[in-house]
Amino acid sequence: MARIELNNLAHQYAPGGEYALQPMQHVWEDGGAYALLGPSGCGKTTLLNIISGLVQPSEGKVMFGEQDVTTLSPERRNIGQVFQFPVIYDTMTVYDNLAFPLRNRGMDETYIHGRVNHIAGMLGLEDVLKRRANNLTADAKQKISLGRGLVREDVGAVLFDEPLTVIDPHLKWQLRRKLREIHEQLNLTLVYVTHDQTEALTFADKVVVMLAGQVLQVGTPQALFERPEHTFVGYFIGSPGMNFFDCEVDGNEALVGEERVQVDPAMAEAARNAGGRLQLGIRPGLIRPAGADETGHRVKVDKIEDLGDYELVTGHFGGHEVHVRLDETTKIDSDGLRVVFPVDNVLLYSDDRLVG
Ligand code: ATP
Repeated sequence: MARIELNNLAHQYAPGGEYALQPMQHVWEDGGAYALLGPSGCGKTTLLNIISGLVQPSEGKVMFGEQDVTTLSPERRNIGQVFQFPVIYDTMTVYDNLAFPLRNRGMDETYIHGRVNHIAGMLGLEDVLKRRANNLTADAKQKISLGRGLVREDVGAVLFDEPLTVIDPHLKWQLRRKLREIHEQLNLTLVYVTHDQTEALTFADKVVVMLAGQVLQVGTPQALFERPEHTFVGYFIGSPGMNFFDCEVDGNEALVGEERVQVDPAMAEAARNAGGRLQLGIRPGLIRPAGADETGHRVKVDKIEDLGDYELVTGHFGGHEVHVRLDETTKIDSDGLRVVFPVDNVLLYSDDRLVG
């Protein structure tokens, strides 16, 4: 196992060109499961390839524990890797495919037998161990690829690059859960690239949210949901994402158009001191209907969608579009919806950064 340290790491593919990765300083804990999440082109694969050794960073260092691995080739880094498409030997049996990384390192056949059976059991491959890989489905082939990435016990980390892309949608959920269980059993450091938030949130202890070559936040799924440190994190995580309204701050209130929303006093003070472009952020599911004895704020309702578990209201508040998630029992009258923004759920942002 290994702690991964990115020490003043940055990358330009061409000298003097754009930074594919902006300078960053991070320590990822030994045994943690990290998901690199962000839109296409934000630098996830570049960062994963720098950690694996496929790409040499133009600046900074990569440390595995105390060892500086920056200039080491992938083979000398003690990592397991799983790619987007299966990397297997079609003519070999499933058993031999799983055994390959161990035989390559001269492990003893008794050990290999035990280890291959263990990994095959975890991935549900025990019944096909004697079959040739080319006779199996695409899903089974990718499971073999996952197994090959996970079979060595002496690796510091296992790196996954969108490994569920080729998996049948109805099996994805099952396999995500399986990877989670495997992580708990094997206690390996895992780094997992994805652009799918559900995949990242189910799989990871910590999600690394990236945009335009920068890491915007590293946090637990709960922290990303409750306290997004950047407006993009709020917008990208959640379904739908967080609401943001331009605002001014007056005393302990945020002014959104004509509306005045109560804000935590410390946060209001931090926002007044920060200045810049101020925005109020609140999650659609953390806005609640006003009770009969509460004044609340009026939301003009444009659309109501029944999404099974909840109703999604799209409307207008203080001149801005707003989304509100309601349970199906909430009554909406012709006058619109009256809502409360609970003070603990209201966050303020200055130039896209959380204040306070
Ligand atoms: P995707 O989800 O589409 O794979 P990503 O988040 O993994 O995207 P990267 O592939 O790491 O992003 O790309 C980050 C930036 O670096 C992009 O602007 C991309 O065009 C650029 N880039 C990636 N690979 C190279 C390369 N080999 N040469 C030059 N530029 C590259």
